[in-house]
Order: sequence, then structure tokens, then C-alpha cells
Amino acid sequence: DGPVIIVGAGHGGYQVAASLRQAGFSDRIRLINDEAHLPYQRPPLSKAYIKGSAGPESLMFRPEKFYHDQTIELIAGRAVSIDRAGRKLLLASGETLPYGHLVLATGARNRLLDLPNANLPDVKYLRILDESEALRKIIPSKTRVVVIGAGFIGLEFAATARIKGLEVDVLELAPRVMARAVTAEVSEYFEARHREAGIRIHLGVQATSIEAENGKVTGVSLSDGRHLPADLVVVGVGVLPNIELAAEAGLPVAAGIIVDEYLSTADPNISAIGDCALFASPRFGGSLRLESVQNATDHARCLAARLTGDKKVYDGHPWFWSDQGDDKLQIAGLTTGYDRVVLRGDPAKKAFSVFCYHGDKLLGIESINRAGDHMFGRRLQAMNRSITPEQAADESFDLKSALA
Ligand code: FAD
Repeated sequence: DGPVIIVGAGHGGYQVAASLRQAGFSDRIRLINDEAHLPYQRPPLSKAYIKGSAGPESLMFRPEKFYHDQTIELIAGRAVSIDRAGRKLLLASGETLPYGHLVLATGARNRLLDLPNANLPDVKYLRILDESEALRKIIPSKTRVVVIGAGFIGLEFAATARIKGLEVDVLELAPRVMARAVTAEVSEYFEARHREAGIRIHLGVQATSIEAENGKVTGVSLSDGRHLPADLVVVGVGVLPNIELAAEAGLPVAAGIIVDEYLSTADPNISAIGDCALFASPRFGGSLRLESVQNATDHARCLAARLTGDKKVYDGHPWFWSDQGDDKLQIAGLTTGYDRVVLRGDPAKKAFSVFCYHGDKLLGIESINRAGDHMFGRRLQAMNRSITPEQAADESFDLKSALA
């Protein structure tokens, strides 16, 4: 039915293109890329990439030859509007591209800090390769960074900056780190580990202004009246899904582009996947918008299957990871809504898992340096099975027996 056009060449967009070809899709595939790089992996941007010295090519999913060989047309540009009646996509260049099916994989963008001096060059964000590259370049000339926001990206960056020798202060409005995403047990562990590494963490406070002299950042003032000196500020206060293209085309949006359990928008010729999509989830009951590589990649595979004749409800099993300093956090399942947690392993030994239950139902597992527990959790979920809280807490209980 005509070409598939994919808007956004991030994790989701790249994967739809690759999976379509794998499934034998033979029509044109055009991938609209508004970043000046081949499609690349985002997670290392706040971790290994800043720490190391490997070039941008180390992040690419595939070399240029892949797109050529697979006849995936990478189109440099930005989509600015959709003509749904005419089934055409308009690019900022003025070019109009007809589509049979349009995939919105537009991701999310940084939520910007609305403070005086927040647009100075020494106030940085971390979403795209160019931002990570810019940070990597200036870190050697900096001595003190204030990180605003103790979410995953803020903490990953803070740990990296500390390893790179900077003085690091982290500000967080919530009473604990990563409060929206993990249990108190995991917050407490990471807070302690970052403090041990020499990072100062300030909870329950907000930045009220950024001070500067002659255009150079000199510090950050806090809501409790304190002032922290700094020559660099890194902001990690969350993201906003890129829904405008869909909204302006009259497609329903809320906290994301609204799609059904097949990832279709209200227009059968347009789908949305990844960070930008608010999808109906029969498994979890209700709508979800997730920000993870698993979500973007599994959405992409499900959509590619539908577009090649294998229509099925999206029913991916969420999982996530975050590397902070020497610690690896892995999450299997969705842990929100738990009313009881059970620990397996020992935080003092830097290896434990938090099993999250609602009643007797296992919702998910947060593992720290316990990859085996994490893999167990993913396999258990895939089998739609559970173990009891008593079994989870009992280290002599053999997890493998639950998978047999
Ligand atoms: P994106 O990868 O954001 O891609 C969207 C693309 O669309 C972007 O290139 C954007 O520029 C482009 N675009 C937007 N609008 C237009 C337009 N109008 N025209 C053309 N192009 C457009 N997840 C994990 O699971 N584990 C991790 O450890 C982890 N670490 C992360 C670290 C960082 C620093 C960041 C930023 C994210 C991290 N994530 C991690 C989250 C993960 O990277 C995202 O969930 C994932 O990239 C989402 O994929 P996506 O395709 O939906 O969006």
C-alpha cells in the first residue's frame, strides 16, 4: 500500500525499519532523521560515552552500508506536518512525501528549566549525542558541577562526573532519589553509594536561580537559602513526549500520542511507538507511556509484524536498566502500585533484589548487581508465573525450580 515513512530515527524508528525488512517488507522504507548522525544508542550518552574516549561511531546501531544494503532511505530532515487526507508528510525543507503508512517515533525532548540564566552555555542537558559530546568536551575544564534532578539520567551523569574528578552536588525536590521510579530500598542504597563516592546529595530542595558573571556560571541558589558554587550545571528534570506533530494533525493526544493495543492511532494509516506513545495495555489495564529501550524496541517489532500481516496485541514485558558508578540496577516488570516488598540478598554486600508485590501478586523485581535475579524475573513474567513472598525472601529457595 505504498511506502512506510518513519518519523524519528531513534531506538523505535530504527527498529521498525530493520524489523520490516527482516519480515520481508518489500516496499519503500523512508526514515526521517533530524539528528546529524546515523541512528545510535542513547543509554551510553550519560554513562560510558562520557567516561570514555570512543568516537560517535561506537554508538551507531549499524554502519551506513546497512541502510544502503537494506534499501532503508535515511532522509535528513524534520517532519513539520501531516496531511492525513492526502496521506502526505511535509518536511521542513518543503519536500512532501507520500505514505502508505506513517509511523510516529518522535521520542521525547528535555524538559527545560525555567530559571534565570538557564540558557547560558554552561547549563547543559543530556538527551542527544551532540549534548553528550559537548559535555565530554568541557568536563576537563570544569571543577564543580551542580546536577539538577536525581532521576536516572541525573544520577548516572553525577556518578560519571565524579569518576572524572569533578566536585558534584545533586539537587532533588523529592525526599529521595529516583522517587518516581524505584522503591525506597533502592533509593536508599543508591543515595548511600553516591555519598560514599563523595557526591553531595541535597533532598527536598529546588534550584531557585543560577548565578553567573560575564556569562559564566558561578553557582546555584537553593530554595532553602543556600548557595552552591559551580562552573557547570547539568539538568535532568525529565522529558516531554513529542506529540505536537500528531496533535496538529488532529490525532488524539494526552500524556502521549494515544494509540490502541495494536499501537494504532485513531487514523488507521498512522501508528505511534516508543517514548511518544501512550498505549492501551490489556496486561496492565489502562494506558501506559514508558521511557525505555525495551518499550521502544518491542513496540517497533510488534508494529513491523502488523505491517507485514501478523497483527497482534502489544504485550511486551517491561524491563529497564541503569548503570551508576560501579552499580548496575535492573528492573523486570512494572513495580508501581506495590503494597509490600521483600528483599532477597544483602544491601551490605552490594547485591540484592527487591521483589514488589501487590497482595500476593508479584509486580516486578528491582535488582542491584544481581543479574541472575533480573533474568529470572523476566523469564517468570514471560511465563505469566509468580513466586510467593516467602519463597522470594528465602535464599535457599531455588529460583530455577519456579521456571521448570
Ligand atoms: P528517541 O530515541 O528519543 O528517538 C526519537 C527521535 O525522533 C529523535 O532522534 C528525535 O530527534 C526525532 N524526532 C522528533 N521529532 C521529529 C520530527 N518532527 N522529525 C524528525 N525527527 C524527529 N533506557 C533504558 O532502557 N536504559 C537506559 O539505561 C537508558 N539510559 C538513557 C540515557 C539517556 C541519556 C537517555 C536520553 C535515555 C536513556 N534511556 C534508557 C531511554 C531510552 O533511550 C529511550 O526510552 C529511547 O531512546 C526511546 O526511543 P524512541 O525511539 O521512542 O525515541
